[in-house]
Amino acid sequence: MGARRKPPAAAAPFRITHPERVVFKDPTVTKGELAAFYQRIAAHLLPDLIGRPVMLMRCPAGGAGECFFQKHRSPGFPAAVHEVNDTKDRQRWLYIEDLAGLMGLVQMNALEFHVWGSTVANLERADRLVIDLDPGPGVAWKSVIETALALRARLQAAKLQSFVRTTGGKGLHVVIPVRPACDWERARAFSRALAESLVREQPTRYLSVATKAERTGKIFIDYLRNGRGATAVCSYSLRNRPGAPIATPLTWEELPRLRSGDQFGYANIERRLARLPRDPWAGIDTLRQSLPKPKA
Ligand code: ATP
Ligand code: MN
Repeated sequence: MGARRKPPAAAAPFRITHPERVVFKDPTVTKGELAAFYQRIAAHLLPDLIGRPVMLMRCPAGGAGECFFQKHRSPGFPAAVHEVNDTKDRQRWLYIEDLAGLMGLVQMNALEFHVWGSTVANLERADRLVIDLDPGPGVAWKSVIETALALRARLQAAKLQSFVRTTGGKGLHVVIPVRPACDWERARAFSRALAESLVREQPTRYLSVATKAERTGKIFIDYLRNGRGATAVCSYSLRNRPGAPIATPLTWEELPRLRSGDQFGYANIERRLARLPRDPWAGIDTLRQSLPKPKA
């Protein structure tokens, strides 16, 4: 499948130390293999990763259970990993611009990439909304699929195109590109109203507030990804979970046949990419659409 943007220029001398270090245990993936893997799928990963503040899950000791989230630069980061100065929060967030930056993150043992819904060029405006569907214990997978399709239908009624991806975990993300970008208040209000409208219609099926006790049998529709500084996993990021699953963009047409949120991963994503006739998210970067005006 052709990538959304031109593949980055190949073969720069990226410095990966300790390529033999195991960064993932099930399946066994070394740091060298991780760098090679991310380099092979870079044309797909980079369009959603470059130019956005990124939170890393780093696994320097190797394997699950010894990893941590990191949003700021620390000693040893290569120069290809950049910082954006956030004058409002008085913080400097990490971001990358290219393949060298991606390899710089792998050099720092980053396994997962989580990005903002805005770009470093304009931290104050959201250009991607994410509705995160989290099934509680006992929820059938079919029900998660139905929920994503219900959200899509509701968005279509508001003249908004949306996109769907697996998280590599338990659930799905429904993604709404907004162009021109909107302020965070608008992004939050819209996604909150969307989530609450589903909860109002089927309160036994859905939740939109994170009350741990009541989650059994319900789907938590998390709209809080849509705030300044909040992140969601980046498309084509691996996950530090058993089987090394990967967050995978899908077409709406293939969603009903999807077996689980972790169906695609390190072992099979490249075969999927090679077989796809087109980018499942074709057009997401050029689509012009605005959120409807809030009702008074
Ligand atoms: P799943 O389908 O299994 O829920 P997910 O990626 O949606 O996978 P969540 O646990 O629902 O995982 O988390 C949603 C998002 O919240 C993550 O993608 C991540 O960007 C962010 N997040 C999760 N944990 C943290 C954390 N400890 N600190 C900051 N942000 C986090
Ligand atoms: Mn989730």
